[in-house]
Amino acid sequence: MKWISDLLDIIFPRHCLVCGDILAKDEKDICLSCLVGMPLIDNEQRNEIEKIFWGIVEIERAASYMYYRKGSPYNKLLHSMKYDNHPEIGYRLATNIAKELMEENFFSEIDLIIPLPLSNKKKKRRGYNQCDYIAKGISQVTNIEVLTDSIERTIANETQTHKNRQERWKNVEGIFTVTNVEKITGKHILLVDDILTTGATIASCAKSMVEAGCKVSILTIAYSNNKFQ
Ligand SMILES: [Zn+2]
Repeated sequence: MKWISDLLDIIFPRHCLVCGDILAKDEKDICLSCLVGMPLIDNEQRNEIEKIFWGIVEIERAASYMYYRKGSPYNKLLHSMKYDNHPEIGYRLATNIAKELMEENFFSEIDLIIPLPLSNKKKKRRGYNQCDYIAKGISQVTNIEVLTDSIERTIANETQTHKNRQERWKNVEGIFTVTNVEKITGKHILLVDDILTTGATIASCAKSMVEAGCKVSILTIAYSNNKFQ
């Protein structure tokens, strides 16, 4: 059926989400030159990400794949994934991340992958949770099981950006509830999210898991080190 996709490419050319150029046959979402130029986070900068959680919740390790910078054309990838009904972009980005992190043993001793839950109201409005797709992409590469029925977001919090570190943390405390303690207790969980900004929401979820007797590591597609954008 390859001729069909070749033909579709001619009739409906697909465009790179970052630069807008027409994609070649084997390219998905972004063209090769944009892929090469991706604002990736290197090992040294990764320490900065782990530091976000210091003094809030004890985590085993944390990583993000790329920077989310104000005005960057690469943000279109994340916007499309999150708001524009293209969660499969999250799946594909996640498989790239997982392949790289496999080489560094990032996934060693991790038992389960849990996508950060959206509130029911938000999920209904959007129609999907993009983090589910990110989790599936990681699972595809690592063969680690994904679990989506063990923790819920019971309170939808308000915006965080105008609050200081302490206020932000208070604002999200207790917004997640573990609903299936026996499934996760004693396990090392990889908690996944799309963009890490203040870290308060994901830290709150991690804290609920730690209180339920889990070890927690964190992986996100992107990291924004501009807290007030
Ligand atoms: Zn491009």
